[in-house]
Parts: sequence; C-alpha cells; structure tokens
Amino acid sequence: MSSFVVALDVGGTSMKGGLVTRSGEIVRTGRRATPRDRGPDAVIAEIRSFISDLAASGDGTPAGVGLAVPGLVNAETAVYSANIGWRDVPATDLVPLDVPVRLGHDVRTGGLAESVLGAGRELSDFLFLPIGTGIAGTTILRGEPYGGSAGWAGEIGHIPVLPSGERCACGQIGCLETYASASAVARRYSARLGTSPFSEAITPGSSLSETVTPASSLSEAVTPAGQGPVTAERVAALTAAGDPLATEIWGDAVEALSLALATYTLLLDPSAIVLGGGLAEAGPLLTVPLAERLGARLAFRDAPPLRRSALGMSAGMLGAALLGWYAAGVTDAGDTWSVDVLKSPPVA
Ligand SMILES: [Zn+2]
Repeated sequence: MSSFVVALDVGGTSMKGGLVTRSGEIVRTGRRATPRDRGPDAVIAEIRSFISDLAASGDGTPAGVGLAVPGLVNAETAVYSANIGWRDVPATDLVPLDVPVRLGHDVRTGGLAESVLGAGRELSDFLFLPIGTGIAGTTILRGEPYGGSAGWAGEIGHIPVLPSGERCACGQIGCLETYASASAVARRYSARLGTSPFSEAITPGSSLSETVTPASSLSEAVTPAGQGPVTAERVAALTAAGDPLATEIWGDAVEALSLALATYTLLLDPSAIVLGGGLAEAGPLLTVPLAERLGARLAFRDAPPLRRSALGMSAGMLGAALLGWYAAGVTDAGDTWSVDVLKSPPVA
C-alpha cells in the first residue's frame, strides 16, 4: 500500500490540503482560494487540480483521498451546499485519480479529528464547537460524529436564544449565531458605533452556517470611519481593556453561548465542550465568564468542562486525512498518531 493519502478541507473561501502518512506525519501542506464566485464547476475544477498537484508531489500513488466539504454530504456524494452552489456531486467527480475516496461534512470531519487524535481523544461523548464566521457543532456520541437523520445535526448556531431578538439570515429571530459568531461580535460592535451598513442587524453571509470549519480567523466586519476594520479580535482586545461598549457586546455573546450550551448539556450530557474557531482564540476572556454563566444555568448538575481545540485550523484537514485512510481500508488510522494534546489543557 502507498505510504500517504491526500487530504483536502474545502472551505467557502479557501481550501487547505495535505499529504498525510499512515503514521500521521504531515509531509506536505498547501492552501488555495476557493473560486466560489466563479460557480460550482470552477470550484470542482480547482479541487481536482489541487488534488492532482498534491498527489504528484508525493512518492507514488496515494492510498486514498479524503475530503471535508460544506453543506449536506454523505460518504460518496456532496449533496448540496448553498455556500458553493453545487448539488449531487459524486466524490469521483471531485477526484481525478482512480483511488478510494471518502467525503465528510466539514464541521463533523473536524470533530472526528478532535475525537480521534485531538482534545477529545480520551472522551467518548462531547461537543466540538468551532465559533467562526458562523457557528455549527459536532456532536460526538460514543466516539463517532452524529449527523442526524438527514445530515442536518449540529446546527447549534440556529438555536433561538432570544425570541424577541435580532433577525438571522436563516429567517428566524434571535439565533445564537446572530450574537456569538466572530462575525456577529464584529458586526454588532460596528453597528453600535453607528457606522455600520448592517445596523438592521441582518447576519451577513449565506443561510445555514456551513461554518467553514474551524473557520477562517476572526472575521472582519465594517470599517468605522478613520479606523481599521472591526474584528472580533479587536472587540476582544477592547473588552480586555475595559471598553464599555465592547464589554457589553462580548457579554451578549457569552450570555447567548451559555444559553445554547446549557440546553445542549441538559439534553445530551457531554463530558466536555471543545471550543474552536476564531472566537476561542480569545482564551480565558471567553472561557472564564462562559464557564461561570454555564455553571449558573445548570442548577442541579455540574457543567461540563470547557476545553480548547487541540488541532485548531488543521482539524478539518487532519479529519480528511483520517477519511482518506478509512477509504483505503485502514480502520485504525489516527489511533497512534502523535498530536500534542498538551497544547489543549482544560481551561475552565
Ligand atoms: Zn439562524
């Protein structure tokens, strides 16, 4: 058998690819833009070209290919993505090689990697929650990502947390994502400064989140006159510095998250909640008040501990590598891969 697989994490704005050996060594990585604005056929052509170039850079033919893609997906077909615009694309159309292929949902593939070799390695039941441009999670049940009856599981970002609140792009009112995504934090801060074209509080971006995996970093919103772009990172820094408006917006995000996570905890009793994506980069500024609010909402039981993602922005690509090895018939892929989980100690 060949010594490597091709792994590709396809996001709405960029694709992260790599070659990963059977022992978990990442021997090559690369990134390309996703040409979403040129339509689904252009995206498919770019995926094929990227896989072809990655495979050619390895020693021999890959043992398999794994892809993490947004939207509705099963192991053989990219069924639908509002973000990219494709429908019913067979895995074999995405891969220009005659090797085994497996597809996975972007957030669940990241959750798979956190489960097999990351922050959830020793846990069988947990929530993986990347908070980026949007918010979607992976429910890990008995070590496996749970997709639900039709593949829609994990859309935590659209849990209503404030029924009289702001409108979400999905059509509902008061979704978690409208208060607590990195883009929402930046947008709401900008709007309150009175400089935002989004002051009607419509969440920018597409419908149901397709949270471009541990999403692109802290997303930018609008630029107040005479200043740099407002990012969630900047709102976090202003909060840490005691800015009253930033503190209020940040507090809203924490409050919204505590409501959704209390609901999740009461329903599914996770042993931990693993936070990823741009907003988790804020570290204790997020996790300390969130742990406190979550604990306060769970009167008759302990709150699950909060952890940081161990794999960060590489979770999707590493999960795709696992899928590639599974496709090649290596069912214990990842079990012995060495990833420094010490980088992700419990933080609360
Ligand atoms: Zn929504």
